[in-house]
Amino acid sequence: MGPKSSSGFYLSRTSAVLLTLLLAALILVVIILGALYARTPQRSHHICDTSTSLENIAEPTDRPGIWNNLRLPHNLVPLHYDLELWPRMEEDEEGNYPFSGQVNITISCVEDTDVVLLHSIQLNFSDVGLRLLGNKTIMYQSMEKDGKHNALQEGRAYKRLQDPTYDIHGGNVSINNVWTFEDHSYVVLELNERLVAGNLYLLELNYTGFIRQNTALFITHYKDFNIDKAVVASLLEPEYARAVYPCFDEPALKATFKIRLVHNSSYVALSNMPAVAVSEREDIDGSIWTVTTFDTTPKMSTYITAFVICDFDYVNITERGNEIRVWARKEVVQKGFASLALSIAGPLLSYMEDLFNVSYPLQKTDFVALPDLDVEAMENWGLITFIEEALIYDPRQKSSNSKFRTSLIVSHEIAHQWFGNLVTMKWWTDLWLNEGFATYMEYFGITFLDSKLELNELFTMHNLQPIFERDVGAHAKTVSMKEEELYEADSSHMFNEFTYDKGSALVRMLSSFLTEKLFIKGISSYLKTFSFSNVDQDDLWNHLQMFIDHQDEVRLPTTLRHIMQSWTWQRGIPLLTLDTTTGELAEELFKTDNTDNITSDSNHTWIVPVTWMKNGTKQISLWLDSKSKVFPVLTTAADEWIVLNINVTGYYRTNYNKENWNRLAKQLEANPKVVPTVNRIQLIEDAFILARYGYTDHGTALSLTKYLEKEEEINVWYTVLKHVTSSDYPLITYTNFPLFKKYILKRISPIYQRFANSIRRNFDEAADDYFIQVHIELILKTACSFGLQDCLQLAHQLYATWMKNCSGNVIPESIRNPICCYAIANGGEKEWEFAWKMVNKSEEIERDLLFYALSCTKEPWLLHRYLEYSLEMYKSSAFTIFLDVIKNEIGRHIAWEFLKENWQRIHDIFGPRDTVDFYTVLLPTFASKAASDLQFQEIQLFINTTINENQRERILEQVENKWRKSLGWTSKINDEILTWLQRNADEAEI
Ligand SMILES: [Zn+2]
Repeated sequence: MGPKSSSGFYLSRTSAVLLTLLLAALILVVIILGALYARTPQRSHHICDTSTSLENIAEPTDRPGIWNNLRLPHNLVPLHYDLELWPRMEEDEEGNYPFSGQVNITISCVEDTDVVLLHSIQLNFSDVGLRLLGNKTIMYQSMEKDGKHNALQEGRAYKRLQDPTYDIHGGNVSINNVWTFEDHSYVVLELNERLVAGNLYLLELNYTGFIRQNTALFITHYKDFNIDKAVVASLLEPEYARAVYPCFDEPALKATFKIRLVHNSSYVALSNMPAVAVSEREDIDGSIWTVTTFDTTPKMSTYITAFVICDFDYVNITERGNEIRVWARKEVVQKGFASLALSIAGPLLSYMEDLFNVSYPLQKTDFVALPDLDVEAMENWGLITFIEEALIYDPRQKSSNSKFRTSLIVSHEIAHQWFGNLVTMKWWTDLWLNEGFATYMEYFGITFLDSKLELNELFTMHNLQPIFERDVGAHAKTVSMKEEELYEADSSHMFNEFTYDKGSALVRMLSSFLTEKLFIKGISSYLKTFSFSNVDQDDLWNHLQMFIDHQDEVRLPTTLRHIMQSWTWQRGIPLLTLDTTTGELAEELFKTDNTDNITSDSNHTWIVPVTWMKNGTKQISLWLDSKSKVFPVLTTAADEWIVLNINVTGYYRTNYNKENWNRLAKQLEANPKVVPTVNRIQLIEDAFILARYGYTDHGTALSLTKYLEKEEEINVWYTVLKHVTSSDYPLITYTNFPLFKKYILKRISPIYQRFANSIRRNFDEAADDYFIQVHIELILKTACSFGLQDCLQLAHQLYATWMKNCSGNVIPESIRNPICCYAIANGGEKEWEFAWKMVNKSEEIERDLLFYALSCTKEPWLLHRYLEYSLEMYKSSAFTIFLDVIKNEIGRHIAWEFLKENWQRIHDIFGPRDTVDFYTVLLPTFASKAASDLQFQEIQLFINTTINENQRERILEQVENKWRKSLGWTSKINDEILTWLQRNADEAEI
């Protein structure tokens, strides 16, 4: 899709007026022709009887036509669907679950054509008809008497058209041939006459299909109160609507929908709109079915139509006239697990309604927890579906982690009711306009629900750090995609972390440089202007530009479109390097490997908003719009320092000259709070990453950790420890271990002690603190792994209490992992045996945790016994157990010997297919830890003598790569870190 010129809107309005006049002149002609048509005998439209599938009809695939295009021609625009679905939840003789459907589509012809093209996958048509309804201009004239015309009115007008008595100009259109073009999932209707622009037609299709397992219309069998049940639901995004009903399945071809579901009377039927009528129908076998009819939807895209036929229960509440119901298995509802979702849905809907200042257009919203769903959730308008564990919440859980997850997902899906459902991207290439906005708004939602959560901190930890790590190298993708590129893949490829996470990071950057006030004002107007219609990113930029042009507070260096396109069309993340001695600020593509080559689609210049502070004082923002620029203000005097990217609202990493890094380290030692928490997090994150990939040295990164004794923020600590204890890029080696231990223990003790006290006193007080719940594990793990006596004591105490009273685990959930591990590591046979006994009594999640804990023992004979048990008793977890044991220094040697001795046995137990995991994952892991050439050669020898020839080469290559990588990494950093620690850890005493 080409960019739209700013005057395009006004020109097209003028054209529309001219067109209307022309059409008005043609009305008489059309009426006369219509009348003549009605009198002409028509050929039958019944192209096949019910027993004939269209696949049997000759497909003129070698004949070129509009069906060769991947996109619909848009010469016909659907206005309204009258859709009935009748799914059978009983298996037929072939083991399938069939459904039948009937759809009448009101179509407006905008360009003459003699071919009707619409989407359909694996649907068998029994009856296809097409007839002229009348002239669209007449309809508009009757509707526009009061000068008002909007999408909902249009919807009502087409509803009138469904009334057979309204068929004033009707006449059948003769169809020559109907066939399917499977390559592009089209059903093609070739006509004997042309459809005329300006006319409305009614396309009537009767068809059958099969219910699937995971997508489109799917069935799930589950248990409720231990009784077997089934539910039929739909998942239509991105392009599965065509597998449920023939349709113009493109997001921009919005229409209104009148939906009817035929179902067993003991089930409830749900769809986007409230049910308005319930009736009965008798099947040919005499069985009686219930027909639930739903109100007509507003104008919307096909991919958010939705259907659920279930035997669920619900809880409900009414918020601002909107009935909210949360549906789930009856057992789940009875236990009260649906109440969290119910308690947050209403406030979130109202919050977003107020924030965007755009009313929520529906009268009801159903939230449905499905026992199985291919995605976490789907935002269908008015009928949001979730995988059960994402929506339900057991209030007995003390940790706030799962509560947080539910709140975040509910918040995301509610944001979609505006971003995606009300205003939709024109094509999947701009999916980030749905997902990037919904993802950013989910953070607004969650911080609204929990005022203790700080948006910048949460966004940085949750979103930026992971996407910054992923947005490098060959697998990085652009946020927007060119249409041609998407065709090579398919629409489902757009559902990736770049669309969601990078998309949301770009929205946040936009909001930051526009100011939140202007951003929200502009977004609110954008939502109003494009309600019930579609946009591409230029529509967004051009719309916001109007607001920028009408104020004086925010000044941009160029058009918003120009700025933002430098981000949405380029892959990768920029690295900004500031030299505070010269004021030179340069940008380049951040690379993790010199072989990274993502130059083809970009010039690696971004127009970067640069916020910054000098000595803790915020300064006037700058723009970097070329590879390098000198800003005299960015120079510093001897006692000054600069931090770029305040609160990390910009999508870039930063590097500085050595002096500035040193001064930052000194400032942190003097008073860390002068630097905002989010920037402390990101300075450390950037410094370690830059050191890892050679942009700076490890001494620079480590210098930023000298102050940590004063650091009280768990997120900063988490970021440091994530790097220091990384197993992929290990900084700790046998040689530097004692120094590292001394260095870290001195610094971690204060924060450790604070949490240890809280755990001993009453850890429930931290149950609502999300960051503590998710990050405390690493603090305890590090303290215990470096042998902090109090930590080992704490582990021993808590574990001993559990051993005394094994009926319920008293160890708080968020610290169970390190506590059990270190209690077993420093205990003996008794502790190990207790955990093993509990494994056999536990549920799956608890069991996985105990499997890990059991691998922590330092007793060789227990480790050996554990591997033996895994093969005998827990075969399905044996692979994970091996991986855990390998993480243990002593365990690694035991596991290697065990593997050699038992290779044939493992092969016999798991068979050739499952043994693959053992050699493709375990052997490279051993290689990466091999301490000498001799050990590595032993692994090679093992591969050569045990693995069959056709797989051997590949495994040898993998193993060698791992070994080389780890060898290169260790030798590179070992001396550097050792020297630094010798200079800096000496002062540490513990
Ligand atoms: Zn989404």
